[in-house]
Parts: sequence; C-alpha cells; structure tokens
Amino acid sequence: MTVETLERHEVLVGATAFVGHARPPRRYPSGRVCHHPGCDTRLSIYNASELCYRHERPALPRLRGRAVA
Ligand SMILES: [Zn+2]
Repeated sequence: MTVETLERHEVLVGATAFVGHARPPRRYPSGRVCHHPGCDTRLSIYNASELCYRHERPALPRLRGRAVA
C-alpha cells in the first residue's frame, strides 16, 4: 500500500463517521460565560446562545407566582 492510498483510506473512514447521523450534536467551545452584564454563568457546550438559560429568554412568562419550567 502506498502512502497515497493510505491517506485516501483515512479520508474515507473519517467521512463515513458522520454518515448515519441525521443530526450530529453541535458543540461549542467550553468555558464560555454568559454575556449578560454581571452574569458569570458558564455556558454549556451545547448552548448555541451567548447567554445562559436565564438570560436567553428574558420574556419567560410567569403565571401568578408559578415559575414556568
Ligand atoms: Zn446569564
């Protein structure tokens, strides 16, 4: 096996790793912090937003003291 065929083989294997997953999970850099002023909540690597879950949706409706989960 030449070096060229070996490289091609690796490329094919790498490509097939993503086949079969309709939605590969997106990951974002770890260690990010919420951009909301004064908030230092760490963001999940799965959180696409630049804000934590509390500040991501500030208009979360509340019903008479009951916090909507
Ligand atoms: Zn926040």
